[in-house]
Amino acid sequence: MNDSSGIDQVELERLVADLIDTCSTMVIATTGSKGPWAAPVYYVWTAGSFWFFSSPESRHISQALDSGQAAASIWKDSDSWRKIQGLQMTGNIRMSGNLKEKTEVSVCYLEKFPKAASILRDKLRPRPSAKTKNRVFLYAFSPQKSVYTNNELGFGFRKTVKIRSTSRKADEQAHKGHLVRVAYQNLQAKPRLGVSACLLGENVRWDGSNKYDWYIREVLGSCFDLIPVCPENECGLGVPREPVRLEGNPENPRLVAKKTRVDFTDRMQRWIDLRLEELGCLGISGFIFKSKSPSCGLQNVKVFQGDDMVNLGRGLFAAALVKRIPRIPVAEENDMSDPGWKANFIELAFNISKYL
Ligand code: SF4
Repeated sequence: MNDSSGIDQVELERLVADLIDTCSTMVIATTGSKGPWAAPVYYVWTAGSFWFFSSPESRHISQALDSGQAAASIWKDSDSWRKIQGLQMTGNIRMSGNLKEKTEVSVCYLEKFPKAASILRDKLRPRPSAKTKNRVFLYAFSPQKSVYTNNELGFGFRKTVKIRSTSRKADEQAHKGHLVRVAYQNLQAKPRLGVSACLLGENVRWDGSNKYDWYIREVLGSCFDLIPVCPENECGLGVPREPVRLEGNPENPRLVAKKTRVDFTDRMQRWIDLRLEELGCLGISGFIFKSKSPSCGLQNVKVFQGDDMVNLGRGLFAAALVKRIPRIPVAEENDMSDPGWKANFIELAFNISKYL
């Protein structure tokens, strides 16, 4: 059907698809306690979202995840107001926690930005040596409302549009992504263990230090693929950061900054949901946690009410992992000093890996 500009819906969709295909960068706008912020990202459009790689510590990611909303725009470069053409959108941003999705989108991304290959191919395969601080993750901006502007269709032409969820080219790329994923899984020679990143020597603790554990990194690392996870850094608290602790109801404690009293529980829970989905897809066959941490501790983590320690509990990430992936063995680094315990853990992890 034609509107007053004389352009029909099919043609409008085609123009929008062309704009998205020919542009490379999208500016994301967010707002938060530090005020408004805008950041450009390189995107690829497929499966109903704009996908891009960013650091979890970046201001646009942190603010978008905290507020649950973001705005974005794409514009064609032009030297005349007559050629102004672009897309303005509101929507939300989420992190991809799904290996299939991540691999398929990465293939589309590499087709569009081949020069990013050397960096991103590395990111597809988690390694113990990967520095959490420099890692980037895949995020999706999903538009809820999109307005298309095109002065070539008439001065001030603006129309709310529905963007085609995917193009034929993206379908072809997704199929290639499937093949890459199968090849990637076949390469998986060793069973995988998740490990608190500071135990692997990564400087991700609140003060920038680590808790390198020789046995875990060097000995277990020779027979398992070790996947580093730092909940506090990866959920965006950064390094260095203010120390946090568990407070309140011991059954359902909150994660609170010691001095500023900022409550990070909701932010941490959102990150945990995504990361556990990813770890489930990666098929980890065990997890070794850093003891006593309000995020990673498996037992005997202090829970406070005011200045008083009222109970001993479990770090938020450890508690969620045990609930979500109950079949795998879990341990703290100190458990590895007991030879019997250690042997049991390793045997169980190997046995479970055969069924993943
Ligand atoms: S204990 Fe956990 S949250 Fe704390 S630094 Fe180590 S990995 Fe990060």
